Amino acid sequence: MAGILFIISAPSGSGKSTLVSRLRSLVEGLEFSVSYTTRQPRGSEIDGREYHFTTRESFEGMIAADEFLEHAEVFGNYYGTALSALRHAKAAGKDLLLDIDVQGAVQVMRKLPEAVSIFILPPSPETLERRLRHRSVAEHVTSEEVIARRLQEARKELDRIGEYRYAIVNDQLDEAVDELRAIVLTERQDGEADHKLARSCLTTSRSRRLVEALGSFERHVVAQKM
Ligand code: 5GP
Repeated sequence: MAGILFIISAPSGSGKSTLVSRLRSLVEGLEFSVSYTTRQPRGSEIDGREYHFTTRESFEGMIAADEFLEHAEVFGNYYGTALSALRHAKAAGKDLLLDIDVQGAVQVMRKLPEAVSIFILPPSPETLERRLRHRSVAEHVTSEEVIARRLQEARKELDRIGEYRYAIVNDQLDEAVDELRAIVLTERQDGEADHKLARSCLTTSRSRRLVEALGSFERHVVAQKM
């Protein structure tokens, strides 16, 4: 084992956080990279646990000093993965998981083509919109504009799904967790891996669930243009 880099990306509202925390409790030897960000902490977030919260000035200093594996601006804030996270995981003999957006993921794939990329998507635009509305109530941001912007952003991200090695349609949480675990164990060549399940998640496999989910987003766009 050791040294595999997993990249997970998902539009906000895909249910990624729950999925990733379930994975965390099921799979050993996986370190989670704590990103740097210039956004403000939310709710119960703690500096150094969810993110390293920092200022724009200090973030830009890190860019200038070439300290990032990748960085991107998401919803008006900087986010970045420090190269030190990679070194740290290697030294500890662990695999590393990055939870980053599409722009960052593409930068990492270019630099480290052996990285294992996984895209998590909601089953339909209707489910995504419902989840975004729930979340915005929880965050006390009920602006229609924010929801519309996140939906539009999700569609843009979905257009790049073909650049990822795997895709998981997060419809039933338990199934999605099984798939994520199968992918990690398969890439590790672990004897317990469910290779067939992992293979069905390859984006090149064009599974029925993936095709249906992508189709529902395309129809939604066409319907909106009419
Ligand atoms: P949030 O502010 O909701 O925690 O995250 C917003 C978005 O930023 C999510 O899509 C998340 O995956 C992405 N993100 C978090 N950390 C990083 C990072 O280090 N680099 C990049 N490129 N995106 C990140």
